[in-house]
Parts: sequence; structure tokens; C-alpha cells
Amino acid sequence: MDNLRDMRVDEPAPDDCLSAEELPFDWPDQPADKPHAAWGAPILAQLRQFVAATRLELAPHQEKLSVQVNRYSQRFGQWRDRTSAQLSQIDLAPDLAQNIGSGRWFRGLGTMLGLSVVALAFWPDFSALEARPAMNLDEAARDEFRSQMILPLALGADNGSHMGASRAVIPLKSAPERPQIELVATFHKGDNFMRMLRRAGVGSADAERAEALVAGAITLSEIEAGTHVDIVLGRRPEAGASRPLDDLRFRARFDLELAVARNESGLSLEQKIIRVDDTPLRIRGKVGQSLYRSARAAGAPTSAVQEFIKALDGHINLNSGVGANDEFDMIVSYRRAATGERQAGKLLYAGIERDGKPRTQLMRWGKDGYFYEASGVGEQRNGLVQPVPGRQTSRFGMRRHPILGYRRMHSGVDFKASYGTPIVAVSDGQVSSAGRAGGCGIAVRVNHGSGLSTRYCHMSRMAVRSGQSVRRGQVIGYVGSTGLSTGAHLHYEMYRGGRAIDPNSVSFVTRAQLDGRELMGFRATLNQILSVQPGAALEDMTRLPSEEGAPKREIERIDSKREIG
Ligand SMILES: [Zn+2]
Repeated sequence: MDNLRDMRVDEPAPDDCLSAEELPFDWPDQPADKPHAAWGAPILAQLRQFVAATRLELAPHQEKLSVQVNRYSQRFGQWRDRTSAQLSQIDLAPDLAQNIGSGRWFRGLGTMLGLSVVALAFWPDFSALEARPAMNLDEAARDEFRSQMILPLALGADNGSHMGASRAVIPLKSAPERPQIELVATFHKGDNFMRMLRRAGVGSADAERAEALVAGAITLSEIEAGTHVDIVLGRRPEAGASRPLDDLRFRARFDLELAVARNESGLSLEQKIIRVDDTPLRIRGKVGQSLYRSARAAGAPTSAVQEFIKALDGHINLNSGVGANDEFDMIVSYRRAATGERQAGKLLYAGIERDGKPRTQLMRWGKDGYFYEASGVGEQRNGLVQPVPGRQTSRFGMRRHPILGYRRMHSGVDFKASYGTPIVAVSDGQVSSAGRAGGCGIAVRVNHGSGLSTRYCHMSRMAVRSGQSVRRGQVIGYVGSTGLSTGAHLHYEMYRGGRAIDPNSVSFVTRAQLDGRELMGFRATLNQILSVQPGAALEDMTRLPSEEGAPKREIERIDSKREIG
């Protein structure tokens, strides 16, 4: 090795080193007579010589280095093979579901717990970050800031600086009280009249007396939630005693105002019957682009418009039966009090007119509140609704029973439905039985009249009792898998005269028809209701001299008795 190096140093290798003349300096497109070629050539030749010499000097070192690198990489390769062989023998993650209790299992458990602990050790800290305070405040300064803040008074905050009493302040032995307190108490849902008075600060004896007086005029449960009661409490007879009830008045009903006032003989009740006019509210207008919007724009209450559309939908096709140029005609029950309050109720009549002639006339009739056409024909409720959404998985007829295993009659149809899906009655009827029924599990049977009944099996839960009346679409129970059933589904049966029939073969139309005396009554009421003029209910009732209300302006109220307007 040493010899080789010496030899190379002494004998410059002619092939390795190019002389300046041989340098490939002149490019074919660069003529040698260019000025930079003249000064560049010698520098480049020297550079070449230097590089060649350095390379010769470094060559032996390079060789030595590469031998060493090879050796290290070999050793590293051996170590890597050895270690990976060792590591592959270590069973770090054994299946914890196998050989439970063995040493291997405990080791696996230990590994898992260890890793969990490591993972938990990196659980982030969610505590609040601390920042340097914007300014250092002492107790007094902080208090000063706090007292200058505007905090919600409802939270018990005070604002404005509080000053400690100095010698200039003379404390009073007692502060004078207001002679009277006027307040408004609200009767809440599920409230008790007595409790409400006590809450307002009325003494127990007065509250009891007032409640007894009010109960003499109306049933206390008649008082609607949200009723405001104006209460006036008088001067305390002595310090520490509760204030006496001086006056109490409220609107007990739409047509009745009650007042309990104190006179020489104690508390007494005063009843004021308020005149109420119940001329229904008739609203007419052009249907236009949207029946809903036109009716709302004409002043119909939202609930009435919804009822109107629903009533029409039960009788006519809304898409083809109502045009933009048609006129709608709705009559809503309405009450006006002489004191100015108004209350809209249910929709009574729904009509559509085309070219000035009635096209559809529907009026609410009977205790069920269904709408009937002028001819006395009730809402057409055709077809049966499906008891549960979803498709039928098994039809009516002979089939191999999934549990019993032999062929037998499948006396109904099966609907695919998940556990808990509500089941609805397919038509109006009366529940004839509800409860466990052998292989049918928890079942409900509904009698629809005219010999037709339906049964709903395998329910998880029932929503009706035997004897109860149900409407079409009413929830009667929930899908389950009780009785002889392989999984949650609805088994639905239909009977005619006690015999099971294919439910898919029946689609009945229920349509009530008024006749005889009832039809006459219906027509008379319809004529009466149609005699109402549109807008008749909108005018204010003419006030009687005795009904002149309390002054409206605050300035006029001063020194005058308060009254509910
Ligand atoms: Zn079935």
C-alpha cells in the first residue's frame, strides 16, 4: 500500500493529468481569438493540475475508509439480523381471549396495562392557562372596579361606589314605608290561588278569605295559566305584621271580571260580567299564488288556515280543485269582549268559490269535529293506511312456518319493521282486545265495524286499552318480537265475520253520511253560519255608558283607581 502511494506520487500518471494544451477549452462555436480565452486558459490548467494531485494524494485514504465502512456495515447487518430474530421470538401481544390465566396471558395483560399507562401519561392537561395580570390590583382597587361595573342587577349586583358612613351620617331608627304597594301576581300552570296570594305577600287570613270569595263565583280550576292578578296591599297595622289585602282584581274568565275589595265589614267580592259577542269571523279572499299566504294576508289566524287546508284536503284534490282565481271563504269561531279583547277559535266553515258559485262547502259538525259537505257527506277517508312503514316480507296463504317447520296457513301478512317502530290503526275503530294472545304475543285487535276487524301481533308494547276508540293512523303499539316470532316484525291480520282474510284484498272507503233529522240540523246551522257578513266580527262592540274604560294615558291614571283594560 505504501509503495503504491510512493510510486504514484513520484510518477505523475500521464493519462490522468491533462496538460494545459490538451484541455478541451475551445468549444467549436467559441473561436479561440475571443479575449477571455487568452487569460482563462492558464488558470484552468493550474486548477486541473491541483485537482489531479489532490486526488492522487487522497486515493489511499479513500480505500482504507471504504474497507472500514464495509466492515461496519457488515457488523450492523449481523446485529440487525440477530436482534430482529430475537425480537420476533418475543410475544408482545398475545391474544387475551386465549389461555386465560396462563403466564403468557398475564404477560400480555401486563403489556397492555403498561401501554395504557404510558398512553394515559400523555393525557393533556386541560387546566386553565395562567397569564400575567394586565395590571396589579390591590383589594381596594379591585373593589372600586367592581363597584363601577354594570352587572346584571338580577344577579344581585350592586353598582356605584359604596361609601362608608362618616360621622356626618346619623342612622335612622326606622325608615318610613310606602303606605300602599301595588303589584301584579301571575297565576302559573298548576298553580293554586291561595299559594299565589301568599307568594305575593298577602297574609294567610286575607288570602284564605279572598280564595273563598273567588271560589264562590267561579271554579278555581277555571282560571287560566298566565292570568295576571292585580293586588293592592295596604299599610301595616304594626311593625312586623303583614300588610292587609286592600284590593284584588283579575279577569277570571273571558266574560267575567272579579274584584275583592276591602270595606268597613272586611273583604267582599264584586263580580263584573263582561259582555261577549260571539259573531264568528268570516274571511274571504282570492286564492292567488298561495292559499296559505293569501289567507294569512287577509288576517286569518295560522291555526285556522292550517285547519282550512286540512279540511279541504280530506274532500277534494287541492292541486286540481283550487285555482288561483278561486275565492276562499273561511269562518272561524270568534269572541269579542266589550272591553276590547278578542279570541279566535276553531275553524267552522271552509269554502271554495269559483266564478261566484260555491264549489266546495264544508262545515264542522258533530262531537268529533269532522267536516261535512253541504250535502251531508262526510270526509272521504279511503283506503287503509299501512300499519307500519316498510314492505311486506310474507304474504297471506300457505307457507312453511319459520319456527314450527311445517307448512301451514299464514293467516296474515308480515311487515318488515325494526324494534320499536310505532304501529298505527289502519282505520277508525274500537279496540276489542289488547294483551297477550299465545303465539301472537302482545297483540291488539281493533273492530272497524261492519264485521271487519284487524289484529296486530308480536308487539313489544301496547299504546291502547281494550274498549278504547282509535282513529285511523293513531299509534296503538310498537313493533317487537313477542310470541312465536323469529325477530322484530309486524304480523298483521284482517278478519271479516270472524274469518281471516287477505288484508291485501281489502281497501275500504269510510265516508260518513248525515241523514234525517241530523241532516236538517246540519243544513240549518250551515245557512245560519253563511249569513255572517265578512268582517262583521272585526268591528269594535259599541260600548255601553257603564262600560267606559279606565283612562289610557298614564297621566290620567294618577289618583284614579287601577282597572284591568
Ligand atoms: Zn306472520
